[in-house]
Amino acid sequence: MSLVAQILDGNRVRDQIKGECRPRAEAFFRHAGRQPGLAVVLVGENPASQVYVRNKTKTAGETGIYSETITPDPTVTTEELLHLVHSLNAREEIDGILVQLPLPPHIDSQKILLAVLPEKDVDGFHPYNMGLLATSRPGLRPCTPAGVIEMLRRNEIPMSGKSAVVIGRSTIVGKPMALLLLEENATVTVCHSKTPNLPQVCRGADILVAAIGRPSMVTADFIRPGAVVIDVGINSITERAEAERIFGPDNLASFEKRGSQLVGDVNPRDMARLASAYTPVPGGVGPLTIAMLMRNTIEAAERRTGLC
Ligand code: NAD
Repeated sequence: MSLVAQILDGNRVRDQIKGECRPRAEAFFRHAGRQPGLAVVLVGENPASQVYVRNKTKTAGETGIYSETITPDPTVTTEELLHLVHSLNAREEIDGILVQLPLPPHIDSQKILLAVLPEKDVDGFHPYNMGLLATSRPGLRPCTPAGVIEMLRRNEIPMSGKSAVVIGRSTIVGKPMALLLLEENATVTVCHSKTPNLPQVCRGADILVAAIGRPSMVTADFIRPGAVVIDVGINSITERAEAERIFGPDNLASFEKRGSQLVGDVNPRDMARLASAYTPVPGGVGPLTIAMLMRNTIEAAERRTGLC
């Protein structure tokens, strides 16, 4: 089957969402006399986390959100971090609290995440917010899967009545993704590492979402020709042989230049050949997460002050 696949451009959708955030933040300012406020807590020196946090605070500035980054000493204890979260919960001008994961292993991450006030939980990971999602009530939704829904909506890809298969059941992506697709009236199947006949199940999907964390695991035998494929995975590969297997011997220029390359959970060549529409890696789902975090922060601010 020969198709010209539509590339779902995450940068374009990110810019749209950011463009909508700014006037909302300005309207909030007129209403509340202050900007929406976001506090980011970063513990330790994980380089990827440092980049994510820098991008978050930069995007906050661009969308009219006040932000501050708090970097406790890496030796901070769970109790001390809890104290910090409680103090952020109590600050009126802070609408969103984001604790950057992963936390160092000596910290009880679950305890910390549970301590964030649900109305300020802009990551949408708190069990209260997950419960609101599961019971179809308004609330703060996890950013990455909510971004995927925006991507599908804004590209006018129908979800209602479609068969959707989500690979992955994490609290951050897979589970909320399945619930959000259900909310859109898709018929949803959730797969995971114990699912038998995975390729066969996936071939039943009109919309296939991969959130696994395994480079290029989803290959041609998983994709029904004409399916919409959303690749949430972000993996870095450093082995030349693996790059050659994934990208082909003639497409290694980018890998050769850097000695590594980002790749999703779906084989990019198979996806481009078989899907009717797909998200590339990078430039697909990735850019949406931060934009949705900004939207959640503004939404939290509006709710907290009775604006919505
Ligand atoms: P996770 O490790 O918490 O969950 C992975 C899921 O994949 C699990 O539910 C597991 O059951 C399933 N799985 C693992 N091996 C499998 C197999 N062989 N067959 C079927 N299922 C299998 O990961 P996560 O946090 O959900 O992230 C998944 C991917 O999405 C990662 O690559 C991560 O980097 C990426 N991610 C991207 C963004 C973004 O902004 N684009 C945000 C979050 C996560």
